[in-house]
Amino acid sequence: RFSEFSRTSSNMAAIMAARGQRQVQDFDFFVVVDFEATCVKDARIFPQEIIEFPAVLVDGATGRIESAFRRYVRPKHHPVLTQFCRELTGIRQEDVDGGVELGEALWMHDSWLKAATAGAGSLAVVTWGDWDCRTMLESECRFKGIEKPSYFDRWINLRVPFQAALGGGGRVTLQEAVRAAGLDWEGRLHCGLDDARKTARLLVELMLRGVKMTITGSLASPPPIHQKQQLPIQQKKQQQQPHQPHMISPCGGSPGTCFCYCRVPTRGGVVSVPGPMQGKCFFGCGNWTPAMGPVCPYFVWTN
Ligand code: AMP
Ligand code: MG
Ligand code: MG
Repeated sequence: RFSEFSRTSSNMAAIMAARGQRQVQDFDFFVVVDFEATCVKDARIFPQEIIEFPAVLVDGATGRIESAFRRYVRPKHHPVLTQFCRELTGIRQEDVDGGVELGEALWMHDSWLKAATAGAGSLAVVTWGDWDCRTMLESECRFKGIEKPSYFDRWINLRVPFQAALGGGGRVTLQEAVRAAGLDWEGRLHCGLDDARKTARLLVELMLRGVKMTITGSLASPPPIHQKQQLPIQQKKQQQQPHQPHMISPCGGSPGTCFCYCRVPTRGGVVSVPGPMQGKCFFGCGNWTPAMGPVCPYFVWTN
């Protein structure tokens, strides 16, 4: 089984706090991840699959970057990377051809983590944004029936404490954040390991500025308010577009009462296009747009 990390804080953190060197953190370790995944230009790929699994371990007491991990992952459904994806991420076809399956990458990552932390202490996963843990890893594991360690079910979206500490309206990108914090932009944008390293450096920077890190997202918790608020607007837009080829009139039941496993309220519909599926009802992830389709693979027919 995967490691279970305890949530007790370490003596080391208490010692550092007593010396007044920095804010004591609730976690002995932070593991910063930044997945890269299959993609195409200006459209959504389905199902999207992780192709690079990087992680950087930060000591919660000292802020030292301790160790790094990376495995390339072989995608099953779209094994040949698009040129766009190769250029965006810098990942070569031979990298993923020689990669492991996602389940194996998760096990390797867990073994690395156990060895690097001596299997003790509390741990929090850190990402830039909610996509890595709420959407990408969760949907792929569900879709493929892969078990993942429970520490991936809660995370710190570093954008939240970053914007609380340094400001910046809207959706600040990792690159903007690194620059705003006065750090040099090193490495390649959208290389997972470089992105994870930069996120780790930002984390350390915030720790040095006295920011205490707390969990910002969890699969057990309801979706953030802003997602709930966005949904009716999105649905309104869809209703204003009567010429969509596949869609859609509400299937009954109040929207937002059920949640997809990516934590977005599900949406139901009935196929209106003439053909064998006409009149069939379905439920799917509510995170859907006419142009891009569904964000995650959740979809069921209800009759
Ligand atoms: P990031 O962590 O920002 O490097 O992006 C994670 C993943 O999101 C990438 O591996 C791509 O699958 C996808 N992605 C990021 N930017 C784009 C883009 N401009 N167009 C399409 N997919 C993208
Ligand atoms: Mg990312
Ligand atoms: Mg990245």
